[in-house]
Amino acid sequence: ATPTSVTVGIGKGAENGILIKAAESLELARQIQTIVLDKTGTITQGKPVVTDTSSMLDLVPTSANILAPLALWRSIGALESNSEHPLAEALLQYAREQNKDLQLPTVGRFEAIAGSGVKGIVEQQQVLIGTQRWFDEMNINSAVFQTQKDGWEDAGKTVVFAAVNGHLQAAIAVADTVKPNSAKAIQTLQKMGIEVVMLTGDNQRTAKAIADRVGITRILAEVRPDQKAQTIRTLQVKEKKVVAMVGDGINDAPALAQADVGMAIGTGTDVAIAASDITLISGDLQGIVTAIRLSRATMQNIQ
Ligand code: ADP
Ligand code: MG
Repeated sequence: ATPTSVTVGIGKGAENGILIKAAESLELARQIQTIVLDKTGTITQGKPVVTDTSSMLDLVPTSANILAPLALWRSIGALESNSEHPLAEALLQYAREQNKDLQLPTVGRFEAIAGSGVKGIVEQQQVLIGTQRWFDEMNINSAVFQTQKDGWEDAGKTVVFAAVNGHLQAAIAVADTVKPNSAKAIQTLQKMGIEVVMLTGDNQRTAKAIADRVGITRILAEVRPDQKAQTIRTLQVKEKKVVAMVGDGINDAPALAQADVGMAIGTGTDVAIAASDITLISGDLQGIVTAIRLSRATMQNIQ
């Protein structure tokens, strides 16, 4: 590669909202065989909103172990105000809508368990918010909400549960919209002969519903944050592929660094941007197509 053509390529990228950190990634991009896309914030907007809730009070109206809705949402709001997860913002927002003068109580012993949820002590009570798998591990049975959960997930929503002092309180559905250009960009990449894979910590059913909407058939779901980089490595070593990873979250950073080409969503976290070779400034997945085309054109000029 001549230095001049690479410099021109990097300049053209910048004009198109694609920041290329190192010349090597411009050279490598045309060799990409597999593109791994994070779901939340990459394929979707990453601005989830609570759309449905179901309380245990609807099922057992007189139970002493179930908090009244306002008290429950005060606890959920308090706990989630300590979390950086995109879902946390949606839950806090909803808690505020339930109670206009919401005063958040302080939270003791707050813990975020990556890929599972959050816990802490609120008003002397142990509050947990997170996935069904995590609740199963804690021996909190959430099967009473199974039909609702499955239906919400088939609609592409993420479902979390809330428990207080070990008693299940509610199931909550959170929806995130697919970015307008995601389906088109994914289809273009597939036509270019590249395999597109979805990688997410979210559950299989929700992942499948979103994947169906954008034309992805290979889904790696329920992957814990610490396993994301290993997943990329497996594709590189076992399947012998040149792999690109596209993501926005702190969780994605090790996978972005492991990939042959790491691409960060410009509207994502600084950690993801720092771990990447390329930044798609607007977060539009069409930028992946542009980057690969630029790489092909640049390298053609050189040979
Ligand atoms: P993703 O790859 O979609 O960003 P994560 O691995 O970050 O997923 O999280 C997986 C799941 O863990 C989420 O879908 C959610 O169910 C649960 N979770 C994580 N953090 C929180 C939180 N702050 N509040 C509630 N649930 C959470
Ligand atoms: Mg994400």
